[in-house]
Amino acid sequence: MDNLAPYACSDENSRGRIHPEDSPVYRNQFQRDRDRIIHSAAFRRLEYKTQVFVNHEGDLFRTRLTHSLEVAQIARSIARELRLHEDLAEAIALSHDLGHTPFGHAGQTALNHCMKDYGGFEHNQQSLRVVDKLEHKYAEFHGLNLMFETREGILKHCSVKNARLLGEVARRFIDKTQPSLEAQLVDLSDETAYSNHDVDDGLRYGLISFDDLLEIKLFRDQYDKVANRYSSINERQMIHEIIRRMINVMVVDLIDTSRNNIESAGLETIADVRKQSQALMSFSSEMSALNLELKQFLRENLYQHYRVHRMSSKACDILTALFDAFMSDIKILPPEARDQCMAMQKESGDEGIARGVADYIAGMTDRYAIVEYERIFNPRQLSFVNLIP
Ligand code: MG
Repeated sequence: MDNLAPYACSDENSRGRIHPEDSPVYRNQFQRDRDRIIHSAAFRRLEYKTQVFVNHEGDLFRTRLTHSLEVAQIARSIARELRLHEDLAEAIALSHDLGHTPFGHAGQTALNHCMKDYGGFEHNQQSLRVVDKLEHKYAEFHGLNLMFETREGILKHCSVKNARLLGEVARRFIDKTQPSLEAQLVDLSDETAYSNHDVDDGLRYGLISFDDLLEIKLFRDQYDKVANRYSSINERQMIHEIIRRMINVMVVDLIDTSRNNIESAGLETIADVRKQSQALMSFSSEMSALNLELKQFLRENLYQHYRVHRMSSKACDILTALFDAFMSDIKILPPEARDQCMAMQKESGDEGIARGVADYIAGMTDRYAIVEYERIFNPRQLSFVNLIP
């Protein structure tokens, strides 16, 4: 890439791949990572995984796939403007949610609860597990063998206890150092994307109201601008005009504030980025406060809405029932998942089996989880019985 800032990640200053490979011919190393992610099975499954609303509730709602694309689009704009590595930012953005369970956060909470005696379940760590271990199609290694910086960016959060198990890629959680600026900016792009698209989806679904949103300053300020400028637009246009401006003011604030932070820190190399006591990519304190107000509004009015809770509680029942059924008899797992569990049992006993079951469940799409539940628990789906004349 041309014109990279000296403290940006690059092929030259990268810590490379676990399994050394020849350099790509016409791509840089992070383009290769992005391409591997897009060609992975886990990426294709994002299309049928819930962001907030279950996939089959309507074709217009965000899914994990469209969310990841929106995060990538925001992250690339920021990276390009700050002369950071755009391909790395894109690769992290496209892979950051690969480890999510079906049914969004409800699924993660349920699976974490099921795994409480076996090391727990955390979607960030699962995303790393997907790209490090669970994709099985390269001849020379398990996983996608991604660059260190891509893997580091995927692992957004990690407890110190788990960091000790994960090694180098998680070392910063022990040493309290910072990841690359590209990793930091994707984290904030994620927030920018979901706060805004959840407003859009929440309004479309009728769970939050336009009038209530006018109490929220970030929304109100942009509403005033749009209403002053256009006197006769319909509600859909109004909502879109407000949300696109909200995304824009957040991104502009993030770029300006981060650029100032970077300048005052006097960065020269990537090592300078890592040794900072706090992240240099940030919103201004005013924007952080506005964003917080919006997020609290969404938490109270959208994420805790009874209709979202109903979906969550059903999702929790489905995943818990699947987990318990597989744990009590791994012979009902499809052969590939069963063999995987048995191999992991040899290494770490019951914990290995549980991890294999969690991998299988976490990999499911919403609709696959529902179908699998039906297959296991619905007596009418006993196909062998149906075959008896
Ligand atoms: Mg996300």
